[in-house]
Amino acid sequence: MSLKQYTGFTRLTERLHDAIINGKISHAYILEGDTGIDKEAFAKDFVKAILCREEPGYGCDHCRICRKIEHGNYEDMYMVKADDSSLKDAVISGLQADLKNKPAGGDRNIAIICDADTMTVRAQNRLLKTLEEPNAGTVILLLSENTENLLPTILSRCIVLRLGNYTRSLQNQAEEQSFAKELMEIIESGAYFCEIKDKLTKEIKDRKEAFALLDGLERLFRDRLLGGSTGSLRKEQIIRNIAYVEAARRDLLANVNYKYAIRNLVLKIGG
Ligand SMILES: [Zn+2]
Repeated sequence: MSLKQYTGFTRLTERLHDAIINGKISHAYILEGDTGIDKEAFAKDFVKAILCREEPGYGCDHCRICRKIEHGNYEDMYMVKADDSSLKDAVISGLQADLKNKPAGGDRNIAIICDADTMTVRAQNRLLKTLEEPNAGTVILLLSENTENLLPTILSRCIVLRLGNYTRSLQNQAEEQSFAKELMEIIESGAYFCEIKDKLTKEIKDRKEAFALLDGLERLFRDRLLGGSTGSLRKEQIIRNIAYVEAARRDLLANVNYKYAIRNLVLKIGG
């Protein structure tokens, strides 16, 4: 769709529109957003806005160029993805070779790197060379969920665009708090771990949600301590649980897999 239709982040799309119209497009962007945000669709719509001649700066969504971009068969647009859990050096190497081609349709080559945050360090170092010496007209879009996985040298050469920081609304916070409560009830009812695990898989889909759950749990435990009503838990157990939550938060910050960190925490709380 046209960038105009992204009413959720108008400030961002206006900024991009102005950059395109004024010929100030950067050669590399990181589009950062949670799992729930279709970064690939946004990247394509951004590319339309750059290349469309009917409605420059927004994309018309119906001309030949816009349609080709939408279908992923625009000749000068190269898209790569992680093959299993990571985006490998060889894929970036192939992309670099493609970007050396002279653009066939216009004056720009475009690269969309999906799952950029899963690039191996070797792949990142390889990409760095392209970011350091980009060919004229080349635009590289890195799509990422956990930008902290990217090397600082990569970050420093890209403009970071956050998609949908509006998702951290109060309503979401309330939902997270209520999931923390629900989770504690399940644990306290003595449910089997596999049952809890299924629930976690469904509710916690990325690191940010894992952090939010930890915040919710900690608040819950602290409220119980302050309120004097500790439910079925003894005071010492609650204090111990708060320490477990803090340890899990340190694990997440140290880049331990979020699923592992949360499951480990649940086992400790339940044990
Ligand atoms: Zn168009």
